[in-house]
Amino acid sequence: MFHRNTVTKGRGDYRPSGAERALVGREYGSGHRASKAKKRLVSSPPPYYNPPNSRIYVRGVIDVQIQNSRRAFAARRPAMRIASDVSVVILGAGFGGLCMAIKLREAGLEDFLILEKSSRAGGTWRDNTYPGCACDIPSHLYSYSFAQDAGWTRRYAPQSEILAYIHAVIRKHGLEDRILHDTTVSSLVWDDDTRLWTITTADGRTILARALVSAVGGLHDPAYPDIPGLDEFKGEAFHTSRWRHDIDLTGKRVAVIGSGASAIQVIPEIAPRVASLQVYQRTPPWILPRNDRGYSTVERLAFRHVPGLLRATRALHYWNAEMMALGFVVRPGWMRAVEKRALRFLERSVPDAALRKKLVPTYRMGWKRVLLSNTYYPTLSQPHVELVTDRIARLTSDAIVSRNGARRPVDVVVYATGFRPFYQSLDIEIRGREGRRLADEWKDGPQAYRGVSVSGFPNYFLLMGPNSAVGHNSIIFMIECQARYIIQCLSWLESGKLDAVDVRPEVQADYNRAIREGFDGTVWQDKDEPRSSGSWYVHPSGRHTVIWPGFSTSYWFSTRRANPTDYVPHHVASPALPAETPLRRAA
Ligand SMILES: Cc1cc2nc3c(=O)[nH]c(=O)nc-3n(C[C@H](O)[C@H](O)[C@H](O)COP(=O)(O)OP(=O)(O)OC[C@H]3O[C@@H](n4cnc5c(N)ncnc54)[C@H](O)[C@@H]3O)c2cc1C
Repeated sequence: MFHRNTVTKGRGDYRPSGAERALVGREYGSGHRASKAKKRLVSSPPPYYNPPNSRIYVRGVIDVQIQNSRRAFAARRPAMRIASDVSVVILGAGFGGLCMAIKLREAGLEDFLILEKSSRAGGTWRDNTYPGCACDIPSHLYSYSFAQDAGWTRRYAPQSEILAYIHAVIRKHGLEDRILHDTTVSSLVWDDDTRLWTITTADGRTILARALVSAVGGLHDPAYPDIPGLDEFKGEAFHTSRWRHDIDLTGKRVAVIGSGASAIQVIPEIAPRVASLQVYQRTPPWILPRNDRGYSTVERLAFRHVPGLLRATRALHYWNAEMMALGFVVRPGWMRAVEKRALRFLERSVPDAALRKKLVPTYRMGWKRVLLSNTYYPTLSQPHVELVTDRIARLTSDAIVSRNGARRPVDVVVYATGFRPFYQSLDIEIRGREGRRLADEWKDGPQAYRGVSVSGFPNYFLLMGPNSAVGHNSIIFMIECQARYIIQCLSWLESGKLDAVDVRPEVQADYNRAIREGFDGTVWQDKDEPRSSGSWYVHPSGRHTVIWPGFSTSYWFSTRRANPTDYVPHHVASPALPAETPLRRAA
């Protein structure tokens, strides 16, 4: 579909071909900006730049200058050049961005770059290093289908192992050179004339790209509680995703605020070390036994050498997870049977009836993420651990004060308060056709088409966009569905079928209406138990904007084929643009 050698590694001289000059001329249309771009490409020496330690070679580049080039000129420094004018720019080097890069390669498109704000790839699994951090979907399923690993040491691998897996995948697919680290994207602006996105980074560099894939993650920005006095607290305070390994908790009075997925992993790990542990709970989660176990050497050898065993294990985990969604999606009442199991587990784990009462959830299982732990409940029963259910009134310089007036002195506060979900429009200034701002479009909650495309924002694709997350199955499965879908959209650009992939507004509106209706009768919107707040799945507007209201299988089905008629036929209205491929081809 695409041509593999658009970007080649370690090549030296470059001369733009006549066709390329012509293509660039056409691609950039006319006008001041276009003629400047043309001049640079045609009359100057090859304007490409290999970033330090990189072997990336981008053909037909338009050089990119830092925005404050005037200052650079004044300082008699040449404006900085970086690799530019790539066909596809991917934002973020987590599971999503890396999957997209690999799928682009498989499709033969080498002309891409990944921009990553951190100095290391890995996303979630780079940031979350708190003690006990691990996945809660079995690793054979919580990994790429195309890079299955026989070596997982446990059913639920710890963070370090998942991060090592991600880096092994990067090496195997030779993606090291494709990631521009320490590059925070701050704005994305679409130009209707040139059909290009201008990507601006926080340090003022700009890059032009034909298509963007945003893989900046849904659980990336820590959320902090809105409690008076946070700044007054004089002890140490940090978020689970920014764990302070330099702070020794031994013998300290520690408070953990939150009782969600990260809290129940970290609390049993730190409890043995601390002098006292206060756990501040707002909503008790549903918790089921974890059934974690290590894999023996023999098992791992079998995974490696017995044909089909890895795939069968993955399939088993997949369908097991999908079964859970039966109750979520088809009949929430069926979850009562699983709730009874969870309550029996609670009863076995917590002998104290008063404590147990505080731990009984008051909502239908599945409305929030179901958690897995064998060690959380027993930890709460320990004498030096206190479960506090009174709401926090404020923090003082050395204590947490509850609304009932109780004051509990504390040395360290750990915020296990989760993340701001799917609000990327707030952090990155994104402007689409006719200067439309994504933040404005999404003020009542993010929405997209199939979680991937947003009307008015051509050639802009999302991974883990609105209504595409699942709580019961692997996010990586969803990411792979989306990457495949996006590749199909990009193939229209490549073939010239469309010169901009922009979903029709009415198609997006119909789709979102169907999504809203899809929630009716599910565990997330049960008319017998109406709830609209208290879950991060729900936008402040009351709309469900995070979760896919179905099975992951149905998401796969809905994204398996992208339909060009869902998209605005831009090529009809843009005679100035080349009839042939706008995505860069091999000469
Ligand atoms: C503790 C924890 C445990 C989890 N466990 C599971 C699990 O068991 N199963 C499951 O399915 N899911 C789990 N998840 C969800 C998990 O986030 C996803 O599975 C997956 O890792 C998301 O990958 P991503 O690439 O979309 O996002 P991320 O991993 O968040 O990666 C996004 C990347 O984008 C970069 N970035 C962000 N903004 C910018 C910017 N402006 N410019 C440049 N780069 C930027 C970030 O630095 C980051 O590297 C867990 C999440 C957490 C926090």
